[in-house]
Amino acid sequence: MEEGKSAENIMGKNIIGVIGNFKRIVDNPVSKFLLHKTLGYCEEDGASRLETALNFYLGKKEDCCRKCKVTSKFIAYIVSKGKKSFGVSEEEFKEQMEDQYWVRGLASVLKGIATFGVKKPFVPGAPFQVVWNITRACNMRCVHCYENAGSKGEEELSQGEILKGLDILANCGVTSLAFSGGEPSIHPQILKFIQHASNKGLHVALATNGYKFLDLGECMKFAKAGLQFVQISIDGIDPETHDSFRGVSGAWDRAVDAVENFERTGIFVEVATTVTEYNFEEIPEMIKFVRRLGAHWFMLYNFIPTGKGAEIVEMDISPKKRLKILRKAYRENFTDEMQEMQILSTAPQYAHVAHNMSFEDVKIIPTHFYNPEYTNPMLIKLADFVGGCGAGRFYMSIEPNGDMYPCVFFPHEDEVKLGNLLKDDFDIVWQNNRLLINLRNKNILKGNCGVCESRNICGGCRARAYNYLNDVFAPDPGCTKNENEWNMIKNYLSHENFQKMHQNGLTMNLRN
Ligand code: SF4
Ligand code: SF4
Repeated sequence: MEEGKSAENIMGKNIIGVIGNFKRIVDNPVSKFLLHKTLGYCEEDGASRLETALNFYLGKKEDCCRKCKVTSKFIAYIVSKGKKSFGVSEEEFKEQMEDQYWVRGLASVLKGIATFGVKKPFVPGAPFQVVWNITRACNMRCVHCYENAGSKGEEELSQGEILKGLDILANCGVTSLAFSGGEPSIHPQILKFIQHASNKGLHVALATNGYKFLDLGECMKFAKAGLQFVQISIDGIDPETHDSFRGVSGAWDRAVDAVENFERTGIFVEVATTVTEYNFEEIPEMIKFVRRLGAHWFMLYNFIPTGKGAEIVEMDISPKKRLKILRKAYRENFTDEMQEMQILSTAPQYAHVAHNMSFEDVKIIPTHFYNPEYTNPMLIKLADFVGGCGAGRFYMSIEPNGDMYPCVFFPHEDEVKLGNLLKDDFDIVWQNNRLLINLRNKNILKGNCGVCESRNICGGCRARAYNYLNDVFAPDPGCTKNENEWNMIKNYLSHENFQKMHQNGLTMNLRN
């Protein structure tokens, strides 16, 4: 599969705007009691009661059942109070809510408040984004693939089961769904899945290597089906790095064509690059190159040694190098061209960098997946609610057989498996699973992550901690504050050891 998926990026757009607006208004027993009454699915209107009531209040739905109408009055009260507190006008609010994505995000926030209260970090009523690896089949052989992709797996869900799973996610209040894999664009029914998810109101994304999108016509088919966001991976400034990484010649050219073609469809385009020793020196040039290509976002993926990526662990960059590249990326956002492209990172330390690098006239809410400017000082307080690593709060992943994990970068082991989409109740898993509950608690992080001033806006990458140290709550060895852990790992994994293991044909498993 692709080295990464549009992890925590898409949902960032709505979190900031909605959490704070409603905190003070709804975080009291009466509001929470009333909100509880709004949870659940309305058979008559064919959607969650909250979403139906919101759409009715916003005038996006002409009629609804009596219960949803009553609910809409309560929603109108909360919204009017929230708008007042944060100085948002009726027009501004309604304008923002024109996109159904925001309506679903708001419904999820309200469901989260009713279910969990307003906590730091905040937990929505359902993950904002689910990444679904719908197949292991792939047309490439990437050295850093987290999914160990290749051929279609025996236990992959059928078309009917996938459609059923999409209904479950939509009905439980998931905001955004990203199809990933393997290579999701080569799944024979991918257009049907995109259309179905889109019809159910989900914001639909696709993480692809771009190989299939050589011509505009192919991209248009995906746009027409309802695709709204595409992530295309490019690993280097030229074909040399990329094609050797991907194991397919011509891959770089086709990925670049895909970016340009998707730009022309009007779909939001993100270029993703996993930063390793292979391409570290190329990143500054890549920023310029991706900008020229016209992408909306450039996402620097954090390397995580899982799947095939475990076999190239020696190519992970040091904490100092990570910090250097994150600073460079953050600074680049404040050039004149800032409005054209945002540079982001899945490394949660990016929020720490954003917090510490102040620019006189720019006020930023530091998160690692979205750094919006703010004008209302109240909004800076929201950073602590957003909370860094999204595993357990904003994010979840699903495997081709329906098994669920906190994040695509967790290995497929029982210890970190949450359940199965078709066999378990999604809402109950989200609310009661012990690992998810623990991932929401920044106070149980170990070592420097546990006492770090940035633990609420960063918290370290829990997948890196688990893959390197066999402990979900261990310090993230990718941070300069955790150099002891990094040095220990690097000593243990000397290059010589690594080569020996490879010569013996063994797969690297750092945790054994
Ligand atoms: S574990 Fe957290 S920080 Fe790491 S990739 Fe997953 S969601 Fe992102
Ligand atoms: S010590 Fe942990 S929480 Fe603090 S910045 Fe580093 S990774 Fe983030």
